[in-house]
Amino acid sequence: MFGIWGHEKAAELAYYGLHAQQHRGQEGAGVAVSDGEKLKPHKGLGLVNDVFKSCDFKKLNGKAAIAHVRYSTQEDKEGGVDSVQPLLFHSQTKSIAFAHSGNILNSHQLRRELEDAGSILQTSTDSEILAHLVKRSKQAKTADAIAEALQKLIGAYTFLILEEDKMYVAADPRGIRPLSIGKLGDAFVVASETSAFDIIGASFEREVLPGELIVISDKGLESIRFAMREQRKLCSMEYVYLSRPDSDLNYVNVHASRKKMGIELAKESPVEADVVTGVPDSSISAAIGYAEQSGLPYEMGIIKNRYIGRTFIQPSQELREQGVKMKLSPVRGIVEGKRVVMIDDSIVRGTTCKRIVKLLKEAGAKEVHVRIASPAITNPCFYGIDMSTKDELIAANNSIDEIREIIGADSLAFLSTEGLEHAIVKDKTIHQGICNACMTGNYPVTEHGEKEPSYFK
Ligand code: 5GP
Ligand code: SF4
Ligand code: MG
Repeated sequence: MFGIWGHEKAAELAYYGLHAQQHRGQEGAGVAVSDGEKLKPHKGLGLVNDVFKSCDFKKLNGKAAIAHVRYSTQEDKEGGVDSVQPLLFHSQTKSIAFAHSGNILNSHQLRRELEDAGSILQTSTDSEILAHLVKRSKQAKTADAIAEALQKLIGAYTFLILEEDKMYVAADPRGIRPLSIGKLGDAFVVASETSAFDIIGASFEREVLPGELIVISDKGLESIRFAMREQRKLCSMEYVYLSRPDSDLNYVNVHASRKKMGIELAKESPVEADVVTGVPDSSISAAIGYAEQSGLPYEMGIIKNRYIGRTFIQPSQELREQGVKMKLSPVRGIVEGKRVVMIDDSIVRGTTCKRIVKLLKEAGAKEVHVRIASPAITNPCFYGIDMSTKDELIAANNSIDEIREIIGADSLAFLSTEGLEHAIVKDKTIHQGICNACMTGNYPVTEHGEKEPSYFK
């Protein structure tokens, strides 16, 4: 998500801000701009560039904007362009736009209550629910209505909300998803990842705090607390895999944390080998850390073709069997005859790892030792990352040795949960702390205080 308040070129900057966060969602993109009197949307399916190609920024004039890239989770796979955010709602006198990241656990129940009370929901996304709760609120001020509505939500969320004359920024009481505030001259900017600030030359100011609602207007910034602050539970997968290495999350740089994961992994699970390599791009930092700690050379044993996009025509099964592999290629000169340590950031279904071990062996690697820079993922995520059922998780259904066998590696080890925490958390205060529920089953928030959230009721 990206938001900006108080800049002549709000929509254009939102485009750049989204572009720096393209990796967070590739299904759709959108912006809503306020010119002070009305809100104007522009959105579409596909990548940011595709969506904004057709955009006339002169028509999207205005000094405030919120923007979003879409990544759908199990709840809302369909929906098409109607589900692309920001979602825009009009009343007789006002408009309001909503952008949301995360997942609302009690969305089914809230949806039922809203529909029973007569609300008509336009989409199947949980993101729409807050809008209707706000609309139904009896509070006179929008900020109070939003605070009241947020108190009804259970789950992981960050929200950007735009009215003609105000912008609202909120994070859930545990701060599971990241959100930061920055400044660009006199303008305020907000983004899921600080990489969006760097691309437009904005400076980081601070994190949005767990349970905080910030109201931004021409009068400045006002902070409201809508929930008691709890122990921070920032998604550790943001560090492991999802975020860009140049982003800082909760004051910790993503690349630096990944490198530390590699260092911890080398301490925990060393192996006799000749060379260390990583799967581009997300595993490179951890591979560098592993190499540094183990004293083995880091080498580029695998390269990625960066031009494979979503519209790429995949080779037919027949050509695939002939060995047409488009995305990742081994570097034969590096791995041939060598004992290779292959670092990947995570194993979900196991398909990537299996493919890469095979590529390395075909290129002549003598041994392939797989080291994973995060703990085994044994539980589904209910907080907005698309790992939704136990069935698809290889580590939920197989022992480490069975996984080693399946992916064809000579040895396999995962980082421990302690090692992961050590790589991310500097000191254990209420302000720091991570969610690791997909690795431990310790869910920081459930709907009714049960051990594990559930979807289908
Ligand atoms: P697998 O192939 O085991 O299903 O997925 C793991 C690999 O895919 C990792 O290299 C990781 O970088 C990437 N990946 C793609 N989507 C996800 C996701 O939703 N979560 C995680 N942890 N990794 C993912
Ligand atoms: Fe992140 Fe895993 Fe927690 Fe989901 S369960 S929020 S992926 S750490
Ligand atoms: Mg990867």
